[in-house]
Amino acid sequence: MKSDINKKIWDVIVIGGGPAGMMAAGKSAERGRSVLLLEKNPTLGKKLLITGGGRCNVTNNKPDVRTMLSKYKGNDKFLFSAFSQFAVGDALQFFNRRGMATKVEAEDRVFPVSNSAQSVWDVLVVYMKENGVQVQANAAVAGITVDQATEHIVITLKDGTELCARSCVVATGGKSYPETGSNGEGFKWLKKLGHTIVAPDVALVPVSLKDSWVKKLGGVTLDNIKLTPYLDGVKQKAHKGKLLFTHFGISGPTVLNMSKSIGEMLSNGTVEIMLDLFPALDHSALKKELQDLMVGQSNKRLKTVLATMMPSALVSALLVLLKIDGETPCHSVRSEERTKLVILLKAIPLHVEGLLGTDKAIVSSGGVSLQEINFKTMESRVVSHLYLVGDVLNIDRPSGGYSLQLCWTTGFVAGSCA
Ligand SMILES: Cc1cc2nc3c(=O)[nH]c(=O)nc-3n(C[C@H](O)[C@H](O)[C@H](O)COP(=O)(O)OP(=O)(O)OC[C@H]3O[C@@H](n4cnc5c(N)ncnc54)[C@H](O)[C@@H]3O)c2cc1C
Repeated sequence: MKSDINKKIWDVIVIGGGPAGMMAAGKSAERGRSVLLLEKNPTLGKKLLITGGGRCNVTNNKPDVRTMLSKYKGNDKFLFSAFSQFAVGDALQFFNRRGMATKVEAEDRVFPVSNSAQSVWDVLVVYMKENGVQVQANAAVAGITVDQATEHIVITLKDGTELCARSCVVATGGKSYPETGSNGEGFKWLKKLGHTIVAPDVALVPVSLKDSWVKKLGGVTLDNIKLTPYLDGVKQKAHKGKLLFTHFGISGPTVLNMSKSIGEMLSNGTVEIMLDLFPALDHSALKKELQDLMVGQSNKRLKTVLATMMPSALVSALLVLLKIDGETPCHSVRSEERTKLVILLKAIPLHVEGLLGTDKAIVSSGGVSLQEINFKTMESRVVSHLYLVGDVLNIDRPSGGYSLQLCWTTGFVAGSCA
């Protein structure tokens, strides 16, 4: 390593330049600590820049701590003290005060007004720069040990360089989207140091389908739909929301949030999902609406009229499924064809093939056991002066900005204490 970063004892070394690491580094440096951030990629925040489809769903607008914490499935007790130090309102203020305006969208998801994850990245990078964090890119950490005599943390890079710090923050992420850098390496060192690692598993992940017709719909999105899974023909809990068709099946917030339970169902049998395009209307109301529409435009082609109700790519696919000619003028569509159409619009069968792997997971569950963390400080209870933040922790959460809020909260708390 060319620089002289290895010649001094740093107050804090942060490993991992994702959102959690950048927040922790900036906060610690703001308190006057000498901070070195090590990132193995040539640039910081590779995953952050692809979050929310490049728009970055920064947090979820739930200012009340208890309401927010209810989303972190049974981990609310662990997280309470961290969130009482830095919750949703604090995160919004952090970004807003630094010139990044935010807006609230469906399901309380918060995005930058710019619609660009780059705005979030810019705020964090400027925050670190202003407070004097030294960033070392292309610095891949190979392991961590503790010097028993001095209690300093010794960090060894893959090129053999040894670095020394009074405290260390591990922010190396989980195992999802390994091409962004988070390939689970950090878990190996943490395990060696005595931590319990709950085996990582995919948590929020798209679903692949057997239905070949779906593959032509890649990129089509649907709002206000209902998905009802059936396990071996037995109805399961339905979910309402948004759907995104992809070239392999379905994704989008509602599907991601269902993915864990779909994975569990798949280990017990065959899963079929019924897609209801109009959950607000029952069969007879939908039939009437369709009929009114067709009577009002009786000389128009069926496919043209249906395209006023849903994306035209979906219309074509459904008409092929029903073997109805979309060129038929509405006045010539037979009553039984209308009935078949209504039945399908209320229950389009989607045959689940499986879940996509870790490489396509938004979040992988698993990570360091929460019992081993002091959430007042984010310090490890196993190794003193070692702090753990962000996706390295074993915290299940839904899609909707909850993952990044964990990064802001845990990063801020670690940065306030390390
Ligand atoms: C496609 C996608 C979209 C998402 N969208 C959203 C969203 O809109 N809202 C939301 O809340 N969450 C979203 N998430 C989840 C969110 O991105 C993660 O929860 C978040 O990035 C975790 O941050 P982190 O800092 O803990 O880890 P990461 O962002 O994974 O960063 C870890 C960093 O550590 C570095 N590193 C790893 N090993 C080493 C090593 N040996 N040496 C040095 N550096 C190392 C990596 O290169 C990486 O830069 C999305 C995830 C994906 C994959």
